Amino acid sequence: MNVAIYGGTFDPVHLGHLAVARAAAERFKLGRIYFVPAEVPPHKLQQPLTPYYHRYAMLALALAGDQRFLPSLLEAPEILQAEHRFASYSIDTVRRLRARLAKRDKLFFLIGIDAFKDIAKWRSPLELLRECEFIVASRPQYSLAEVALSLPEELRPNAEMARELARRRHDENTLKLGDAVIHLLGQVHSPVSATKVRALARGGRPLETLVGPAVADYIRKERLYRAVAEPGSPEVKGRPQRAGLRIISRGRALHPAQHRDKA
Ligand code: ATP
Repeated sequence: MNVAIYGGTFDPVHLGHLAVARAAAERFKLGRIYFVPAEVPPHKLQQPLTPYYHRYAMLALALAGDQRFLPSLLEAPEILQAEHRFASYSIDTVRRLRARLAKRDKLFFLIGIDAFKDIAKWRSPLELLRECEFIVASRPQYSLAEVALSLPEELRPNAEMARELARRRHDENTLKLGDAVIHLLGQVHSPVSATKVRALARGGRPLETLVGPAVADYIRKERLYRAVAEPGSPEVKGRPQRAGLRIISRGRALHPAQHRDKA
C-alpha cells in the first residue's frame, strides 16, 4: 500500500488540508494518510499552540468518513516523553511509522510548499529525503525550481538546472536529485489557512465554510481561539513578555530550556 504522513500543527485542521490530502491520495494512490499533529513543532516554537488533544480531537472529527484518512498519535506528548524529546522531528516520526509498516509499503511525506521551504533547517534532512518520497503541495506563486532551491546544499541543483526547472510547467512535476524524489502537487489552490480560521473564531464568526460543520461546532463549544491574540497582532505588539517564558502555549507555558535540542 502507498502510505503518507501529513504533518502540521493543525491548529485547527481546515478544508485546505483536506483538499490537499484528497488530491494527493488520488494522484499517488494513497491507501492511508496519517495526519500527524505536532506536539511542539520546532519551526513554530514562537507561536502559541492550542493543547495537543484539542487539535487531535478536531482532526478526528474532520477525518471521519474518509477510509483513507486517520488522525495519528505518532507525535503524541506521551511518545515524545518516552523518548526524552521536547519537540517533534519528522525524521523520528517517519522512522516510527516505517517500523510499523510492511516492507512492501511505500512511504510518502505530504507537505505544503511554504513548510517545505525550510527543509534544509530540519533535523537530518538528507536522511529524511532518503527515507520517503516527498509530495509538496504547491501554492500558486511557487515553482518546482523554488522547491529544488530549498533543498539541503548537497542536493541543490546548479544554476543551469535551476533555470531549466523554472522553464518547466510547474503544476505536475517530479524532481529526482541524488536519492531524493520530490513530487509537486499543483492542482489544489485553497486560500484557507489556520491563521485565518483562528482570526474569525476570535471574533465569534461562523467557521463552517472553512473547517466543516463538526470542527466548527467543536471550536464553538470549547470556545477555542476566543481570547488568544496571534503573535505580532496589535493586541500583543508592545506587550512585554513574561520573564523566563518565551513560549506561551494555549493551555500551558513552555520554558526555554525545553528547546535545547531544537534542530
Ligand atoms: P498556520 O496558518 O497556523 O500557519 P496552516 O494553515 O499553514 O497553519 P499547518 O497545520 O501549519 O496549517 O499546515 C500543515 C501543512 O499543510 C503544511 O505543510 C502547510 O504548508 C500545508 N497547508 C496548509 N494549508 C494549505 C493550503 N491551503 N494549501 C496547501 N497546503 C496547505
